[in-house]
Amino acid sequence: MSEEAQRLVQASRRRKCAGCGRQIVKGEYTLVRGRKAYCLKCASSIVSDPALSERIKLLLREKIDAYLS
Ligand SMILES: [Zn+2]
Repeated sequence: MSEEAQRLVQASRRRKCAGCGRQIVKGEYTLVRGRKAYCLKCASSIVSDPALSERIKLLLREKIDAYLS
C-alpha cells in the first residue's frame, strides 16, 4: 500500500473527522488524507511527515492558548 499524501488545509466547508467523528467547522485546520479529513487532535496521532507534525503541534498549542485567554 502506498502512502497517501497528507495535507494540512483550512476547511472550506463543514466536515466530519474520520477519526473521532467530531464536526470540523469551516475555517478550522484539518489534515486531509485521500478523501478523509481529520481534526488536529486525530491528525497529530496519524501524521507521518515530521514538518507537518510540528505544524499541527503548534496549531494545537495556539488553540489552547486561545481558550485560556
Ligand atoms: Zn478527530
